Amino acid sequence: MISNSKGSIMRPDPLPDSASRPVVTPLSPSVVYASDTPDMLDAQYDGDLQGYTYSREGHPNADVVAQAIDRMEGAPHMGVVTASGMAAVSAVLLGLTQAGDHVIGGNQLYGRSLRMMAEDLPRLGIETSMVDPGDVDAVRAEIRPSTKMILVEVVSNPTLRVADILGLSALARETGVLLVVDNTFTTPRAFRAFDHGADIVIHSVTKLLAGHSDVMLGYVAAKDEALNDRLRVFTVTTGMTPSPFDCWLAERGMLSFPLRFDRAQSTAARLADHLAGLPGVKRVLYPARHDHPDHDQAAVLLKGQYCNMVSFEIDGDRDAANAFARAAQGLNFAPTLGDVGTTISHPASSSHRALTAERRTELGMTEGFFRISVGLEDSKALCDVFTEAVQAAIG
Ligand SMILES: *Cc1c(COP(=O)(O)O)cnc(C)c1O
Repeated sequence: MISNSKGSIMRPDPLPDSASRPVVTPLSPSVVYASDTPDMLDAQYDGDLQGYTYSREGHPNADVVAQAIDRMEGAPHMGVVTASGMAAVSAVLLGLTQAGDHVIGGNQLYGRSLRMMAEDLPRLGIETSMVDPGDVDAVRAEIRPSTKMILVEVVSNPTLRVADILGLSALARETGVLLVVDNTFTTPRAFRAFDHGADIVIHSVTKLLAGHSDVMLGYVAAKDEALNDRLRVFTVTTGMTPSPFDCWLAERGMLSFPLRFDRAQSTAARLADHLAGLPGVKRVLYPARHDHPDHDQAAVLLKGQYCNMVSFEIDGDRDAANAFARAAQGLNFAPTLGDVGTTISHPASSSHRALTAERRTELGMTEGFFRISVGLEDSKALCDVFTEAVQAAIG
C-alpha cells in the first residue's frame, strides 16, 4: 500500500497469503486486473498466458459458472455466461446473422424470443419463419438457401409440446443449417442437446439451474470453436457480461441443482396424476402421462426424465381462475419457473395476453388454463393445496 501523510491514496494490498485454500469460490468483483509488465499483458491478449484484464471481457466467477454448465452439457469449448437468458438468445440471433439471412424459430418459443424473431430480426433485414418444431416436414418446407439456423425449445411453454429434435438435427445436418436448442425447461439433467445433434445450446440460468429466483443469468455454447469464439466476442462487445455476484450466487445454487431437479420432477409426476383425478379439472398436460400428445417422443428424447412443469385446465372462466389463484395459499402466482417454491402462471393474463381469445382457445390456453412450475414442497401437502384451490374455483 502506498500512503502519504493524509492517509491511504492507493488500493490496499491483495488478500494475505494463506497456505490453505478456501473451499468456496471467492467472489471477485474487481473490474480490472493488474498485470506486471506490458510484456505480460501482451502475452495475455495473445492468449499465451491465461489472465483476466477487464471484467467485461471475462472474470473468474463467470468462468466457474460456464465450466459447471459445460460439464453438464458436454460442451466441447468453454461456454459464455451472459447477464440474462435473453442476452444468450440475442447473442445467437444477432451475433451470428447478417442482413439477408433467414432464421426459423419454433412457433411456441419463449415470448421474448418470439418477439425478437417477429420484430427485431426483420427490422435488421433478417427474415424469419415460425413453424411447429414437432413437424419436421413443415420445417423442411421453410428451408431456403439463405436459412442460417433453426431455434427451438425441447419442451414448449406452456403447452409442453415436445419438439422432434432428432428429426430436426438430421434435417439441419443435411441442409447445412445450425440447430440451436434453448434447453432451459429440460436442463442437461433431462436432455443433453449436444449429444442429440445441437450445434448451439442456450440456457436461461435464471430458472432451474440457479434455481432460487435471486439471479438473472444466461449461458450459450457452440460446438464449433470459431462460432463459440464469435459468440464470446459479440457478448463482450455488446456488454452482455454478467455480474460476478450473480455468478457467485448461481454457482452456489447449481450445487444442489441435480437434487432439486429430481425432487421437483417426482413431485410433478405425482401432482399431475392427482390433478387428473380432481373434479373440475378438464385436462392435465404432463409428458410422462400416456394421455400427453407427445408422450412417445418425450419417452425417447428425455429418457424417463419428464421435468418439473405441469399444465392443467380448470373447467371455468376468469372468475374461476381468480378464485383458484386466491385459494392457492402459499404458492406464488408469478411468471417464472424453476424456483425452489412452486409457482403458478396464467398464460391468458400474462405470457399470451397479446393473442386474441379465439387464438388462445385454438392453442388450448383458455381462461382456466394454468402452468405450474413444481418446487420442493412436500408432495402430499402440495396436492392438498391444489385440491382446495380447484374446489374453490369450481365451487
Ligand atoms: C426465461 C426464459 C428465457 C429468458 O431468460 P431470462 O433469464 O429471463 O432472460 C429464455 N428461454 C426460456 C425457455 C425461458 O424460460
